[in-house]
Amino acid sequence: MIWSIILPEFAFLSILFFYFKFRKSPEKYATFSLNKKTYSSIITRNEVMHTVWSMFIFALLGGVIDICAANDLTSLYTDNEQYGYTYTFLSFFIVIGLNDIYFYLGHRFLHWKPIFKKIHSIHHQSHTPNPFSAFSFHPLEAVIQIGIIPLVAIFIPLHTGVLLIFSAFLLFMSVYGHCGYELRGGKAKSLHIFTNSIHHNQHHRYVNHNFGLFLIIWDKLFGTLHPKHKQESEAFQKGG
Ligand SMILES: [Zn+2]
Ligand SMILES: [Zn+2]
Repeated sequence: MIWSIILPEFAFLSILFFYFKFRKSPEKYATFSLNKKTYSSIITRNEVMHTVWSMFIFALLGGVIDICAANDLTSLYTDNEQYGYTYTFLSFFIVIGLNDIYFYLGHRFLHWKPIFKKIHSIHHQSHTPNPFSAFSFHPLEAVIQIGIIPLVAIFIPLHTGVLLIFSAFLLFMSVYGHCGYELRGGKAKSLHIFTNSIHHNQHHRYVNHNFGLFLIIWDKLFGTLHPKHKQESEAFQKGG
């Protein structure tokens, strides 16, 4: 497995998936649109340029895994007998949970004024999120956000397949959060547990709310959930 190719490839394919899904027939998805604008009118040259740079950073981070794996410095395994099937299955949810805490705290750190100004403000230049906003990062932010992948590969015993699915899921869901369309509006019950695309869209609009990634509990726990999150999600569900 060549992680220096896999990571940027997963990120790029996720962008292409959402871009072509909604670019081709925006009128078909008009009721799901959060911004009521077509991609061609909102994607900026800056977003594309920062995304290209992020792909290089992802390749470098993947390269860290490749070098560590070549020197037997990762905790990756391929033989299920080593830790058992139950652990292999549970480990996916362990890394999802760990990443969620890591992301929330890291995101709060990126919003600390001096850091925000120098680093995270680039990501927040995207006022109308689209697939090319997802990885429109300052290079250091790209390291912080995706650095979790080599970290878990080195320190947590993980089946190679689990790391592969986790990486794909993380990168895909990052683009989903920025795609500008809400496809899960009807799943109001899950709003108590999971975030949705409206959640991150509000983060780009209001900046000081909604710092979480997959789970909504961190925003609820630390009091950073936008007061209109539920209201907007439910209104959207009805097509409002
Ligand atoms: Zn932010
Ligand atoms: Zn964002």
